[in-house]
Amino acid sequence: MTQKVLAAVRTAPGTTEMREFDRPEIDEDSALLQVEVAGICGTDVKLYSNPPTSPATRGPVIMGHENVGVIAEAGAKFKARHGLREGDRVFVEHYVGCFNCEWCRIGEYRHCEATDWRTNPHARRFGYTSADNPGTLWGGFSQYMYLPWNAVLHKIPDTITAEQAGLVMPLSNGIEWALLTAGVGYNDTVLIQGPGQQGLSQLVAAKQAGASKIIVSGTTRDKRRFDLAKELGADEVIDVLQEDPREKVMDLTDGRGVDFVLDCTSRAGTAPVLLGIDVLKRREGTLLIQGELAAFPDFPVKQVTEKAITIKSARGHSFNACELAVAQLASGRFPLEKLATHRYGIDQVDHAIRVLAGETEEDAIHISLMPELVGQAGGAVR
Ligand SMILES: [Zn+2]
Ligand SMILES: [Zn+2]
Repeated sequence: MTQKVLAAVRTAPGTTEMREFDRPEIDEDSALLQVEVAGICGTDVKLYSNPPTSPATRGPVIMGHENVGVIAEAGAKFKARHGLREGDRVFVEHYVGCFNCEWCRIGEYRHCEATDWRTNPHARRFGYTSADNPGTLWGGFSQYMYLPWNAVLHKIPDTITAEQAGLVMPLSNGIEWALLTAGVGYNDTVLIQGPGQQGLSQLVAAKQAGASKIIVSGTTRDKRRFDLAKELGADEVIDVLQEDPREKVMDLTDGRGVDFVLDCTSRAGTAPVLLGIDVLKRREGTLLIQGELAAFPDFPVKQVTEKAITIKSARGHSFNACELAVAQLASGRFPLEKLATHRYGIDQVDHAIRVLAGETEEDAIHISLMPELVGQAGGAVR
């Protein structure tokens, strides 16, 4: 085994360098993952240009929080605790909870202070934590990643390809938000705003849950994504720049409005939330929000109250959602691999993040970063 590990390191906002690290020592409580694929999402775009500055996240950071790989080396206690051994293929959640607090005790470790850098300056999670922390390799844009005792792992069957495996995280978010948080179910009508990796994942979750009408909205440049949305089961699509989305949703629901609105837009301001409030059914609709905005001037609180709207927050994923995502991918029911549009070596992290941010001409839905592609060109796979 190599004693040096090659990783892409964010050394400053918007700057990446390739570096070699010593292979970390593994004790009986920890393990080392050989990274197969690390997905990237909108969070990487934000964190790349505007990194968090808590003590645990300051310094050189190996990003990559959506990671799949093979257990390369593991201590005896780690193997016993996780029921795993060397050679097992796993998806690694980015949370590392304490497993002793009120949230961890009920299985909601995504809310644990030990892994929430927003409220705890010493919190750690994969893809955010600096290489100055014990274990060094805290992100997936690396040949190997360190796994402490409290890493949360999900077995991935060998029938799932590397690129499909890279979709576990967006799909688990889709299942968490549409199904478990919002509660979309049998015969429901749903408006999904934004046909990116997150919107399309929620579309699949809503379809599998039994929604009777799924409408996906986007803009004119989403043409290709609209086609994919239809292929994945969307009943209707709306280009909000070409047609009036309020009228169209009402037409499509016989004037009733939808049961659920799921906002998966990015950098779209207040418009998606205002549209959602307008097109929800007359009473008791549910609006799922992502809270990108720090403030919302003239928020229509009267309308929300009068329509008895429930607002739910999209906040990561649970263990159950990850297990359901793996099962959904393994089932092959939906052509989810079509979301995986681009792949690059970890030596192209900077470019890949800029592609996902829309700074280039390439239209990527989901991007996989792979250590084994280092030195190769990378780019669109379909
Ligand atoms: Zn992500
Ligand atoms: Zn905890």
